[in-house]
Amino acid sequence: MIFRKPSPFQAKLIAYFWLVSTIAFLCAGYFYKVTINKVLTEEAFQEARDKLDTMVTLLRKNQPFDNLNSFYEWLKENGLLFRARFTYIEASGKVLADSEVAFDKIESLENHLYREEIQEALKTGVGKSTRYSATIKRDLMYVAKRCDVSIGNSSYEGFLRIALISQKDKTSLHDLFPLFVASFSATFIFVCVMALWITKRLYSYLNEILRFADDIAKGNIRRRLIATPNDEFPELLTAINSMADAIESQLSQLTETKETLTIVLQGMGDGVLVLDKWGKIRMANPYMVKHIIGEGTSWEGRYPIEVIPSIEFQDAVRDVIYGKSRSLKLKVSLRDEESVYDVTIARLERERDFFGVVAVFHDVSEMMRIEKVRRDFVANVSHALRTPLTSIKGYAEALMDTLPAEESFAQSRTFLGIVLKNAEYMMKLVERLLKLAEVEAASWVKYFKPVNLAEVAAEAWDVCRPMALGKKVELEKSFTASSFMVNGYREQLLTVFQNLYENALRYQPSGVPLKLSISSYGDEEILVCLEDKGPGIDKAHRERIFERFYRVERGSKKEKDALQMGLGLAICKHIVKNHGGKIWVEGEKGARFCFTLLKI
Ligand code: ADP
Repeated sequence: MIFRKPSPFQAKLIAYFWLVSTIAFLCAGYFYKVTINKVLTEEAFQEARDKLDTMVTLLRKNQPFDNLNSFYEWLKENGLLFRARFTYIEASGKVLADSEVAFDKIESLENHLYREEIQEALKTGVGKSTRYSATIKRDLMYVAKRCDVSIGNSSYEGFLRIALISQKDKTSLHDLFPLFVASFSATFIFVCVMALWITKRLYSYLNEILRFADDIAKGNIRRRLIATPNDEFPELLTAINSMADAIESQLSQLTETKETLTIVLQGMGDGVLVLDKWGKIRMANPYMVKHIIGEGTSWEGRYPIEVIPSIEFQDAVRDVIYGKSRSLKLKVSLRDEESVYDVTIARLERERDFFGVVAVFHDVSEMMRIEKVRRDFVANVSHALRTPLTSIKGYAEALMDTLPAEESFAQSRTFLGIVLKNAEYMMKLVERLLKLAEVEAASWVKYFKPVNLAEVAAEAWDVCRPMALGKKVELEKSFTASSFMVNGYREQLLTVFQNLYENALRYQPSGVPLKLSISSYGDEEILVCLEDKGPGIDKAHRERIFERFYRVERGSKKEKDALQMGLGLAICKHIVKNHGGKIWVEGEKGARFCFTLLKI
């Protein structure tokens, strides 16, 4: 088993083990060598010191020597006996005798005064040093001791010095090499066996975890690892099992959410289309397939335009994918306007990471049909009322003109006046209803031409001038340029100005001018504002006054006489909307009606 070819992981582990043990081995060897050297040197010094002390004692006993030669012979003899080299150096540094230098060569030796051991012995009585000897080409250890000697009649002051071969030099790594190799090989084999054993144990453990992960990946999420007393990492086992628990619970939550979503999507009365980030269809709910795409049409992986014949929808999807807008709402007509859908398109993002688009199709065909019926009905009734009303008004006017001036006809005149006033109101109402039906009916883009708003504003004021003169109200213009060009339907824009002027003139105090301003609004729009000093419009009504038939009841007689219809602003709103702009009212004292239009 042990000798099976190791796996790469095992080989790597063995290599690491081996590297670590080699480093440990070398470090231990180095420190061992240093320590041994230190101990041996200490011991050697001590040995040299002991031998030197014995020699000094012997020297004291044997002196005086007859002559220098007999002293030399004595040193030589003891040198052989102690297996050391003895030198006697005078206090001046001159060598007097050396056991290993022939007597007649002694004169040629250089002065020894500045040798390290002599200098130290000068100061403390005993000195030692180790240095390389060029004579015998080895490290030598020297110990010198102050000691006098009597030779013949002379007495010499100086030092007796012993020199031994250094222990450091004797014990080299070389001697230890076979031992080192033997123990190193033993360690190497031991490390290999250990590494193989450990990796084998780890391997079988990891294999179990691997098999477990594989099972989980295959969907067997109920599987768990079973703990045994011999487990290497019980914490790992617990952690993996709790991870599996978490995966199982999250998966069941996800499955539940997915199933709920599927049921919702299947039962939904709206069409839902999901596209991937390349704009290809990924999912369509049954409603979408049945009512919009058409059953039997293959839709998966295709672009919307291939299955939903609407260029507007495809363009809107592209805008959302390219991030021009995060979400869009549009009306999509299919099958020659037979089906109309309100479509909402939104980007799908996860932490700013775009991964698709969802579009919801809400069928508004029925609503549109009812709306059309309503519009047609109002337009037809209004149209049908116009002819009889014209004749009522015409005959009433004719009767009024032919009525004698006598007092007895005063009551008839009053009655006729009331008839006329109501006929006029009804005529105006009919006209407004027809206008509203007209502007609500369709987009007028095909009639759009470049129009100068400043001119239209002036033209509309000319129409309202009689009313303005009656109240002595003037129009104070503040324009930031002389021409403001928009692409629009001139007649309809005239209606907007007229309606706003009429309303403002109705409420403006006599003699106070109205203020009209036209200016640029951002880079793409023009802003028109008309400001009066009338009662203004309460915040509560500001949104609603643009609705059909909505009126602000203030209860004043003047206002009741004005026969309000609540249609003027609704007409303005539709016209402005048809031109791609928006209208609103603001102002604290008096009303300030503003609307925007797109610049050319
Ligand atoms: P109408 O056709 O009756 O004039 P509008 O739709 O034009 O109706 O106006 C809706 C309501 O807004 C009216 O009831 C009117 O009282 C109010 N209104 C419109 N313009 C002004 C204004 N400049 N100042 C105060 N109230 C206004």
